[in-house]
Amino acid sequence: MSALPASARHYSAWSLLRARFAGSGYWRPLWAGRKLKPAYDVVIVGAGGHGLASAFHLARDQGMRRIAVLEKRLVGYGNVGRNTTIVRSNYLLPENHYFYEDSLRRWETLSHDLNYNVMYSPRGVVDLALTDDSMLALARRGNAMRLAGIDAELLDLAALERFAPELEARRKRRFPIVGALLQRRGGTVRHDAVAWGYARAASALGVDIIEDCEVTGVRTAGNAATGVESTRGYVQADRVVFATAGHTGMIGAMLGTPLPIETHLLQAMVSEPIKPLINSVYVYVSPGHGETYICQSDRGGLVMGGHLDGFPSYTREGVWHRLEDVVQGALELFPRIGGVKILRQWAGTNDMTMDGSPIMDRLRYDNVFVNAGWCYGGFKAIPASGAAFAKFVASGTAPDLIRAYRLSRFASGHLLDEPGQGPFPVRL
Ligand SMILES: Cc1cc2nc3c(=O)[nH]c(=O)nc-3n(C[C@H](O)[C@H](O)[C@H](O)COP(=O)(O)OP(=O)(O)OC[C@H]3O[C@@H](n4cnc5c(N)ncnc54)[C@H](O)[C@@H]3O)c2cc1C
Repeated sequence: MSALPASARHYSAWSLLRARFAGSGYWRPLWAGRKLKPAYDVVIVGAGGHGLASAFHLARDQGMRRIAVLEKRLVGYGNVGRNTTIVRSNYLLPENHYFYEDSLRRWETLSHDLNYNVMYSPRGVVDLALTDDSMLALARRGNAMRLAGIDAELLDLAALERFAPELEARRKRRFPIVGALLQRRGGTVRHDAVAWGYARAASALGVDIIEDCEVTGVRTAGNAATGVESTRGYVQADRVVFATAGHTGMIGAMLGTPLPIETHLLQAMVSEPIKPLINSVYVYVSPGHGETYICQSDRGGLVMGGHLDGFPSYTREGVWHRLEDVVQGALELFPRIGGVKILRQWAGTNDMTMDGSPIMDRLRYDNVFVNAGWCYGGFKAIPASGAAFAKFVASGTAPDLIRAYRLSRFASGHLLDEPGQGPFPVRL
């Protein structure tokens, strides 16, 4: 036992209690508690998935060393720790499916890259069709993916029954299932492990992660930012990156540049743990109740979500009737879960763009960058976004993979109108 590293040893309840009072450091921090320095090459605002992944890739791949991530609350407090953990690349538009496929490939090796287990679980993402028309739409999406070399399978009822026996696809229902689109490599990744894994790896490369530090303003001179004002004082910066997800509208206001973004609530919920029942991620749009997606966590909880609440808000609470819709959709799909209790419900603030696609661009000044507009699908984008955005910030040129996500598309009308398989895009 003594040959094991301290982190891998088994501790008795007594030794844990003793350590708690002796303060002997059994629980080692994952990242270094560094002090804020007066100046950096890059200041990243927001320690969510996108901010931390960008910091990691700037340090590891772009050779930058003086990097700080400033977070107004805690690492993982935002949407990166609130989402329903689904990853996939099943988009129709080439700009989207190549980008999300790059991300999915990176998820496959991320635990190794970060030396931290993020629990990627390729359990399959299944989009269900209830009509022949929706089956045709799924076939169109699947064919576009296959032409791009991305795995997609159109399942008729017999194939769906074989892949997902727990669904009882042929069972008599009010809204019968006619088939599905399956992406086998899609699945789930443990979300807080992603935040901690990136934070730990970035910190090991020298990135300063400063919590409880809100950025309140940007100082500028001519066409450039010179630094940021924060609740911990002024910080000089050669480049400033905003990766603030649901707060990006406020950043636009801070810089005097209104953005085509609204902040909307998306809620999710988890049941008490039950024995393994649901093997994949299912997406189901009920004619009566709207969208429900459901999967089962490794602890056994049924994790569910659906549509946005439908009005702009920062409350992180979520309206009751949306919870009811989601649960009723889940019951239509799996009547057997009827007696299971919901344990927790929560919401996150999503930065919704008009076309459902993200924005990765400069913002008003040559050295100010914005990584935003992730809507309800930005978790799965984190690895690709981090790598590509770091290249953009370091070189000043957006890589091909993210060039379509420029802000000017809203002025020119070249929208990437694809809400993914999530709910409706917000029309401002
Ligand atoms: C309920 C729910 C379910 C979802 N499910 C999925 C899913 O299954 N799959 C998927 O791909 N996506 C999903 N998403 C979307 C995904 O979580 C987000 O798109 C993504 O996490 C946003 O990027 P982020 O991780 O960088 O954001 P965040 O984690 O929100 O990071 C932004 C950070 O910026 C900080 N910040 C804001 N303003 C300031 C400031 N002025 N100064 C300093 N710090 C600041 C915030 O405190 C926050 O920590 C879901 C979202 C929700 C809410």
